[in-house]
Amino acid sequence: MMKRIKVKELLSSPDVGKNVLVKGWVRTKRGSRNIVFIALNDGSTINNVQIVAETSYIDENLLRDITTGACIAVSGKLIKSPGQEQNVEIKAEKIDLYGKSDAETYPLQKKGHSMEFLREHAHLRFRTNTFGAVFRIRHAMAFAIHKYFNDKGFYYLHTPVITGSDAEGAGEMFRVTTLDLQNLPKNNNGEIDYNNDFFGKETKLTVSGQLEGELGALALGEIYTFGPTFRAENSNTPRHLAEFWMIEPEMAFYDIKDNMDLAEDFVKYLIRYALENSRDDLVFLNKMIDNGLIDKLKFVLENEFARNTYTEAVEILTAADRKWEYPVGWGRDLQAEHERYLVEEHFKRPVIITDYPKEIKAFYMKQNDDGKTVKAMDVLFPAIGEIIGGSQREENYEKLYNRIKELNIPEKDLWWYLETRKFGTAPHSGFGLGFERMIQFVTGMSNIRDVIPFPRTPKNAEF
Ligand code: ATP
Ligand code: MN
Repeated sequence: MMKRIKVKELLSSPDVGKNVLVKGWVRTKRGSRNIVFIALNDGSTINNVQIVAETSYIDENLLRDITTGACIAVSGKLIKSPGQEQNVEIKAEKIDLYGKSDAETYPLQKKGHSMEFLREHAHLRFRTNTFGAVFRIRHAMAFAIHKYFNDKGFYYLHTPVITGSDAEGAGEMFRVTTLDLQNLPKNNNGEIDYNNDFFGKETKLTVSGQLEGELGALALGEIYTFGPTFRAENSNTPRHLAEFWMIEPEMAFYDIKDNMDLAEDFVKYLIRYALENSRDDLVFLNKMIDNGLIDKLKFVLENEFARNTYTEAVEILTAADRKWEYPVGWGRDLQAEHERYLVEEHFKRPVIITDYPKEIKAFYMKQNDDGKTVKAMDVLFPAIGEIIGGSQREENYEKLYNRIKELNIPEKDLWWYLETRKFGTAPHSGFGLGFERMIQFVTGMSNIRDVIPFPRTPKNAEF
């Protein structure tokens, strides 16, 4: 038995004259009664290998059954191709048909399906060039993330997906329960009695691994998480999912400046990695999805991010000759339209905004001496808006405790978090990068639903 060779390997170092075995799915078939040309894709690369099948070698009935979408194994000789389109092709000597694909009902017959149509066929969209490229790049980025942090001596920390803490503070949460919803146990006050629930308390799906990440950083030094997070926010936007993946590094002894430097270096590393390792897929996406994609990636690499305080950003937005949908003013949160103005029109490059009003940021951010702002940092990207949110953390026990009280956060939810400030506290910082937003930027895909294999959004959990 000959060993299967992947198309990527076959095309990158073609061994002309050799017998090869390839397996994959038929993208197109054309030709005549006697000679048929099949473009075969096996997912290893965006490029297809051309199979030439002649009825003198291959049964005519078998060839008729090989239609778009069918899965086949082909063995034959690799030869130089007389055609212009490709260097080499395989002259088929034997074809096995693993799976037919009915020409009448196969949904991906023609080219140019809409993204919406493909989303409804998410089980098959991997077989299109676009989604093949997107998901190969998604893999490359996941790998690069681990490589980046591992090379720097960070430890990959697995924080829990199910949390008993209601204080993560990043958004609305999904409940986790095994209680009978038709027949909820109640206590004497008529409230749901969670003592009878699986964990003996109320539990939710995490919105962030940060708080647990901090516990790790305050012993291991530098850690990162990379896992799924959940937000039950009803935001139907091209940038929000109910289930998304987040990378959250957390570092002891980093101040906010170190934190910004790491964030900038990290995203630039990922972009450089994509340019160096996902070339064919990026060239395809640059041609089909966003003609400015590769230039945009290079531009981000070659320019320093602008760094401004929130107060400066508000001044810029107030001075802008613009009618805003959402009002601008000190103390109000920046909306997507404001973020995009700063990045795309004012600074014309990625921007890091720091020192936000404490009222619009989470309780754990380090308080500035002005009593009004905290050491927060958001990284804003063209087309995406916020791609990273982070901060230096409040390490002072009294300040943190008072803020928790001010915000009426139950201490029972955070006693363990507070203890790290009691025993050997240390200055530390961290941030969260939304993985899908990063993939959107790197691929040029405009809707976040098209950079995760099976998107979870309001009213949609198909597949
Ligand atoms: P936004 O204001 O855009 O909703 P956020 O302020 O809620 O973002 P954080 O809580 O700071 O975001 O989360 C850190 C990062 O996670 C964000 O910078 C973003 O990249 C990503 N992110 C947040 N919410 C979502 C979501 N619903 N879907 C996908 N990515 C998200
Ligand atoms: Mn949000």
